[in-house]
Amino acid sequence: MVNPSTSDGRASGIRGRLGELCYSSGLLHSLQRARAWWHKDLRILAYHRIMDFPDPETYDFDLELISTSPERFYEQMHLLKRRFRPTRLTDVAEAIAAGETLPPDTVVVTFDDGYDDNYRIAYPILRDLGIPATFFVSTAHIDTGRPFLYDWLVHMILTTGTPSFVLPELNIDLPMPAARAERRELAGRVLLAMKDIGALEQSAMIARLERDWRMPCDDAPAPPECKPMNWDQLREMHAAGYEVGSHGVHHRMFAKLPHDDMVREIRESKATLDRELGDPAILMSYPVGGDRAFNGEVIDATREAGFELGCSYICGTNPDPATNRYALYRLPVERNMGPGWFAAMLTLPRLMSYPTVHHETGKDPVAACSP
Ligand SMILES: [Zn+2]
Repeated sequence: MVNPSTSDGRASGIRGRLGELCYSSGLLHSLQRARAWWHKDLRILAYHRIMDFPDPETYDFDLELISTSPERFYEQMHLLKRRFRPTRLTDVAEAIAAGETLPPDTVVVTFDDGYDDNYRIAYPILRDLGIPATFFVSTAHIDTGRPFLYDWLVHMILTTGTPSFVLPELNIDLPMPAARAERRELAGRVLLAMKDIGALEQSAMIARLERDWRMPCDDAPAPPECKPMNWDQLREMHAAGYEVGSHGVHHRMFAKLPHDDMVREIRESKATLDRELGDPAILMSYPVGGDRAFNGEVIDATREAGFELGCSYICGTNPDPATNRYALYRLPVERNMGPGWFAAMLTLPRLMSYPTVHHETGKDPVAACSP
């Protein structure tokens, strides 16, 4: 889980303070120019949701999915525009195919899942600043408008009236805590632990809780707090030059699926994107994205389905993306990153990137950051 953060995004740890110091001293820009001489690594930013930070006492969904606020997102994109070279991921794929080296300070902006704040909040900011971006979406959620299952699980745990919490799959059997903060912590632990079991077992477990607790996620349209985008919104962004890639069909961990289901999930997501957007989808982001979520078989199936690049959710940069084009490292943006920390992460990624267990990876940090 991410470190404790302040709601206004102020730096809360040594990295944050160091980043703010380098930023305010004006040192970062010189460091960036110097670094560009010897490091020409591709940096890919990973976002989930852009929204105002809600009151945790009244917000009934997963706070960890909020990458940053609209104001901070604007600042971050403005910095990219001034100091870096924002690039489309498709152009990266073309450069790799042509054997070309990327120019210094190439940065790509990506979003995972497909929440509707990507369209309502992030897209207008990106469009106004002329920053390209890729939106990775789980197609079944775009089709149906139903909430994403992990977020729904957090919602159920936060709001259920059930007195006990029994999950034999995860050896959990305890009284349901009354305090909301304790329930959030419990939900975080469940999300982490369930990434160890099969993807179909995860879905079955959540479906059973929906039945037992009488909280089906498909009874009505998703609540506004956890609504996916729809195809019209994605078509509009696509027509404006924004890229839409696959994040699977049901947001299941590919490597945790039986082989045939895994291949079907990858191929079906591509067929749906191709059909709905009228262009071949070539970009993939493996759902959950940690090193337990994809493997060699998944990469083979991704390549064979016609995808040209695959993004992980493992922290790092890509000094030579031709060598890991189906396992690209990214730099997750977390909500407690102030402007200095964000700038420092892009300038000094090895030192300043977030060395945490993200909610999706559920594993100790992978030492994948390159200098
Ligand atoms: Zn995801």
